[in-house]
Amino acid sequence: MTRIAKIAILLTMTEQEVLTVSREKVYNFSAGPSMMPESVLNKAGSEISDYMGSGMSVMEMSHRSKAYDAIIKEAEKDIRELMNIPDNYKVLFLQGGASQQFAAVPMNLMKNGKAAYIITGQWAKKAYQEAQKYGEAVAVASSADKTFSYIPDCSDLDIPEDADYVYICENNTIYGTKFWQLPNTKGKDLVADVSSCFLSEPVDVTKYGVIYGGVQKNIGPAGVVIAIIREDLIRDDVNPATPTMLKWKTQADADSLYNTPPCYGIYICGKVFKWIKKMGGLEAMKAHNEKKAKILYDFLDQSKLFKGTVEKKDRSLMNVPFVTGNEELDAKFVKEATAAGFVNLKGHRTVGGMRASIYNAMPIEGVEKLVEFMKKFEAENA
Ligand code: PMP
Repeated sequence: MTRIAKIAILLTMTEQEVLTVSREKVYNFSAGPSMMPESVLNKAGSEISDYMGSGMSVMEMSHRSKAYDAIIKEAEKDIRELMNIPDNYKVLFLQGGASQQFAAVPMNLMKNGKAAYIITGQWAKKAYQEAQKYGEAVAVASSADKTFSYIPDCSDLDIPEDADYVYICENNTIYGTKFWQLPNTKGKDLVADVSSCFLSEPVDVTKYGVIYGGVQKNIGPAGVVIAIIREDLIRDDVNPATPTMLKWKTQADADSLYNTPPCYGIYICGKVFKWIKKMGGLEAMKAHNEKKAKILYDFLDQSKLFKGTVEKKDRSLMNVPFVTGNEELDAKFVKEATAAGFVNLKGHRTVGGMRASIYNAMPIEGVEKLVEFMKKFEAENA
């Protein structure tokens, strides 16, 4: 019996049905989980039931097996290479989403019980509120006064002398802003949530104490968080109430294998690292992302119907929010765009309007076609 015939039986489809199943062509502008590189999905698909002749799916493997050890080690090696991560930083593959790190950060880092938070959107605010449970979180700057449509000047903030760290959300997924200049932390360690700009451009890791993010936007399936932590910040003397699993040292000492990690998700992340390397690394990613964002922002800047909502100097390359200024028209746009294959363009439920998330895996063609569609909609609704 052929392999296809076996699959057909397993899926209770006809052989012909299995052969003709293919992915519907849509451009997915979701803020996350979001588009993955097609070649990664195809490669993972081809290995799904038999990883490199092991007779097993990666889902079925022991996380202590030789085969899996090679997968996680290779993934770490590749992200180190991509981000040029110095040896005195650990790379941890964790679980619990970025939100769990909102608690892990203060639990692990608040020695003096105080930290400075810069509030540039909902995710920064949530992290700030969570930190208040474990110590004194001081909001040293905020852009709430203008619905988080800009990044505040962070060149000379009033950072408490005894603050243990300064916290930012580097790219604000919901509002579409990005720190193009890191804050002056006055010598304190910088902690950054990079969930929505991870691996989108080169980074100088040495400027940070901790870089972390959920992978479900630029890197892989939800369920994996990658944390890059300078070694001296991985300590034993953390908040005594810190659960074993949230103590970074637990995972650092065990090379991310203290317990069963999100094995399959990490394997996919590894494949995306290889894809980025093949694309030319982070410099190439940055050029690709700038090109895409420029196409969309240039259109928005001359459109008479659509308008970007963010201060130009602070615009994100990853998340592009825009509005028509008329809620009914926004809804009509989203509906017609969806029907035309441009999906997940509805803005975050708390802000309305539209948002196009154009992460690494979004091809240039996707943005060009979206702009073509927006032009047509504008002409029809002038
Ligand atoms: N931080 C940022 C910047 C995000 O965009 C998100 C989710 N979209 C989160 C944190 C929360 O991530 P998670 O759902 O993995 O907890």
